[in-house]
Amino acid sequence: MPERKPAAIVTVGSELVEGLRLDTNTREIALALSSAGFWVKEAVSVGDDIELLAGTLSRLIGRYELVVGTGGLGPTHDDITREAAAMALDLELLPDEAIAERLATIASRHVRTRAADQIGLQALILAGATVLHPDSGTAPGQIVQTPRGRLVLLPGPPHEMRPMLEEFLDSGSDGVAPRILSCVGMSESDAQLAAQEGIGDAAVSLTVLATPALVDVVLIDDGAGERILAEVASRVRAALGDRCFAEDGRSLPQVVLSLARDRGITLATAESCTGGLVAAALTDISGASDTFLGGVVAYANTIKTSLLAVPDALLREYGAVSEPIAAAMATGVRDVTGAELGVSVTGVAGPAGGTADRPVGMVYFGVADSRGVLSERRDLFGDRPGIRTRACVTALDMARRRLLER
Ligand code: ATP
Repeated sequence: MPERKPAAIVTVGSELVEGLRLDTNTREIALALSSAGFWVKEAVSVGDDIELLAGTLSRLIGRYELVVGTGGLGPTHDDITREAAAMALDLELLPDEAIAERLATIASRHVRTRAADQIGLQALILAGATVLHPDSGTAPGQIVQTPRGRLVLLPGPPHEMRPMLEEFLDSGSDGVAPRILSCVGMSESDAQLAAQEGIGDAAVSLTVLATPALVDVVLIDDGAGERILAEVASRVRAALGDRCFAEDGRSLPQVVLSLARDRGITLATAESCTGGLVAAALTDISGASDTFLGGVVAYANTIKTSLLAVPDALLREYGAVSEPIAAAMATGVRDVTGAELGVSVTGVAGPAGGTADRPVGMVYFGVADSRGVLSERRDLFGDRPGIRTRACVTALDMARRRLLER
């Protein structure tokens, strides 16, 4: 098995380090490089400071066989990556004729002469570099040899960066894509222990990534090869049990929708403390309309009674956050929409409103279908957004489990 080559990523732009833009390129590039057989060991973001960037590039180039940079290749004053790379590698910047010609056409559309001149800066290429031509946008990418390997410079906008990264990787990769097992209702440590059981002594490394209520178990080939990695993934999946909902990168709402679609089951939601998060998660998926009929945000008790036909007497007797009300909400939304499966959530999201009997984080969930209604209590932790996110995920998971029984 070929050894994985160490790689680093550097994203450039003050907007990234100052929090004005989310750095999504690092994630995309890291996953693509891992799949192509590289071992990403470092990822750095640097503001628009030419000295700092030149220093960072020089350190990374001295250490890694592959360094991929994005951003700062455009025509404006803060686009400093070309110059910084030239400083770091002690190379000249030379104009590329073909790019200069294409840019001249684009420049003629600009009214200000200075803007037109600036666009021409993008034709400057590091001496000896291979050019990655843009599909869209104006900034070309560049691949240049370094003493240890290669430096690849790509534009910042993700839609411009992506095809060039693919072009670079297509020109020679023999890696094995990591396996990602997505789990719900499981702690990070439990997921880690279950995964380690499945890995045994195979040459597979493990990363566990947790977000509220969800855990991704990432299995990375560390010399095991495709076949062993697949065997390890199926052992880990068995160890994770039915907490694992996807092995192909699909999200929980995507899984719920496709399980329902495969079974010809339509869905509807009745939400109190999640205020529509479950419906939003489902409608976030394009094409959901063939399966998800709609939902009711029944925050006030009057809406629970008027729109979902929850009996007033039941509310007075048990209170809005209770098992019978979750059940009545799920049944009610099923009746009102005509959906086969109704899912409900009612709970105390906090921080105010908790009592000894009804503590913050106490949430009831209901699922109702033609076979009956089931309601369950869960005690969730976190601040208000954390509880609401966990409640949304739990409701989707209850729907998933009910669908798996069908
Ligand atoms: P352009 O020719 O568009 O100027 P560029 O290489 O100069 O390309 P930047 O100016 O650094 O790119 O960034 C342009 C935009 O691309 C940013 O405003 C941001 O929206 C997006 N972008 C840059 N870097 C990243 C990143 N790491 N992750 C996600 N988006 C990014």
